[in-house]
Parts: sequence; structure tokens; C-alpha cells
Amino acid sequence: MKKIAVLTSGGDAPGMNAAVRAVVRAALYYNYEIYGVKRGFEGLIKGDLEQLNASSVGDIIHKGGTFLKTARSKTFMTPEGRKQAIDQLHALNISAVIVIGGDGSFRGAEALSREGIQTIGIPATIDNDLGYTDFTIGFDTAVNTVLRAVTNIRDTSSSHEKTTIIEVMGRNCGDLALYAGAAGGAESIIVPEKPFTVQEIADKIRKGRTRGKLHHILMLAEGAGSATEIQQKLEAETGEKSRITVLGFIQRGGDPTAADRLLASRMGLKAVEACRDGADSAVIGIDKNDLTVTNIDEALKRGKKDDGELTRLTTILST
Ligand code: ATP
Repeated sequence: MKKIAVLTSGGDAPGMNAAVRAVVRAALYYNYEIYGVKRGFEGLIKGDLEQLNASSVGDIIHKGGTFLKTARSKTFMTPEGRKQAIDQLHALNISAVIVIGGDGSFRGAEALSREGIQTIGIPATIDNDLGYTDFTIGFDTAVNTVLRAVTNIRDTSSSHEKTTIIEVMGRNCGDLALYAGAAGGAESIIVPEKPFTVQEIADKIRKGRTRGKLHHILMLAEGAGSATEIQQKLEAETGEKSRITVLGFIQRGGDPTAADRLLASRMGLKAVEACRDGADSAVIGIDKNDLTVTNIDEALKRGKKDDGELTRLTTILST
């Protein structure tokens, strides 16, 4: 009987539990034995694996975080660490590993594959920073969390007639700022993918004030620049005080939205079926609502799709 292991790795994302549930239940459906690995690759090295059954993943579809826990493992980056992990898999006769995480975790999966372990990746990260897939698990929930914050901040921003800079997660990818900003009606959105000048934002604030606009919400992806520096320059340009709100880790938690639960469930089932079909060193993705199976290396080389339409929309609608 084929034995498969599943693990979650890197930063946690809402919907990881729903993905593990789907992997476990799909594996059992196809009569595989399924093992859960605690704390990602770190747990694999330590042999922290446990056989799971249908009840092990009961009552978790709606919960944020990951019941398997997650970790970043420096030891797994070394050949010695990986050998220990592979020895643990061989000891239990496990021939395939399903890795739920971001690009780093996929590189880890690829490394396991080179040692003869069949691997399939499922994309889960709130950043939506993987170019080969339209969406990653956790992104929609994070957008909604940020959106709630934007709505609340808008009230106080209007009452005090102030500009508010909201810093959100996104080191290399501004999707969280862009989607939540567009949905929340933010006046300005600053993302790492697109250059900006403080001058153009200051002009927009002044223009808004002229037509009686009370607030100005500026969404800033953390990788696009320092909130304090932008604040200082803006204040110097406009002569107006502004506020900064850093949303931080609240963006990573919370119950997954329906969209994330569905995406996670679909991708979990697809991963097991891809494994059954013999796919290896492959990642599951979604392209125009169709699930895809792509080679990891090829997937990670793909650049992000251009979100030009949303940027244009914000420019036109947020005058
Ligand atoms: P997030 O997008 O949330 O940061 P991630 O999966 O990209 O998630 P990383 O910390 O980059 O998170 O990677 C998770 C783990 O994957 C690392 O701690 C390491 O154990 C493993 N890993 C990353 N890159 C490699 C690599 N090149 N070779 C082997 N293992 C790797």
C-alpha cells in the first residue's frame, strides 16, 4: 500500500487546515496510508510523524493556522539534514510527500524529489506571490482581514480629516495592498512592483481636499518603502499631519473565507490525484478557475501576472 506524508511549512496561512483535511480524506479514499508531519521539514528530520485517519482532520476546515504546526528549518537546507529526513521517510516506507507552503517550501520539496521521494506542492501563503497560480490559499482571507481594518480606519480617518498610511504584508508582491485597497476604496496604493513618487500622492491629497474629501487612505505594501519615511516626506509636502497603522500579524490569522476553504479543498484533492497519476516535483495551481499541475522549477521561474487592470481601476475610481 502506498504511503504518503503531508506537512505545512513556512509562514502559516488560513486554509492550510482545510488543505490538510482534503489531502487526508482524499488519500484515504484512494486507500493510501497517510501520515501528518509536525512542524514542516524540521519535524521530518526529527521523525515527528503520525498516521492520520478521517477523524484526525475532523472539525478543522473552518480554523485558521495549521494543526500540524509550521516551521522554517535551517537544518533541512543542509545535505546532512535532508539525509536525516529521507532516512525517516524510508524507515516508515513513505514514498511521497505533499508539501503545503510557499516558494521556499517548494524548493524543499524539489530537494526531496532529487533524492527519489515523490513530491507535490500546494501553494499556501497570504502574499499571493507565486506567478504560476492566480491565487494561493490564505490570500482571500488576508484580503478580507485587511479590508475590515481599512473600513474601520476610514471612519476615524474621515472624523479627524487625516491621511492614514496602512502598512500591510508583502515584501516582493503588493497583491494584498492592491486587492484590499481596491475593495476598500483606498485613495493611493503603493506596491513594490510599481515605482511611485511622494509628489504624486501629495497632489492627490491636495486635490481631494479641494473637493471636500475628508480622508485619504494610503495602502502601503511593506516591501515598497518605509512608512515613516513616506509619512515624513508627505507631511513636508502637504503641511498636514498623518497617521500610520501597521497591521502586522493579524493578517496571518482568522477563520478562512469560503473562497479559501474551497480552494484548499480542491487543491488538496488534486494533489493526491496528481500523486496517484505519477506526477513528481510538481505543484498544484489555479488558472482561470481550472486546477493545474506544473513542474516546480518551471512554476517558480514564472513571473507574476500583471495586475494592471486593478491598478488602472484604482487610478480611475479613487480621484
Ligand atoms: P512564505 O511564503 O510564507 O515565506 P515559504 O515556504 O516561502 O513560505 P520559507 O521560509 O522560504 O517559507 O521556506 C520554508 C522552508 O523550506 C525553509 O525553512 C527550509 O527548511 C525549506 N527550504 C527553503 N528553500 C530551500 C532550498 N533551496 N532547499 C531545501 N529546502 C529549502
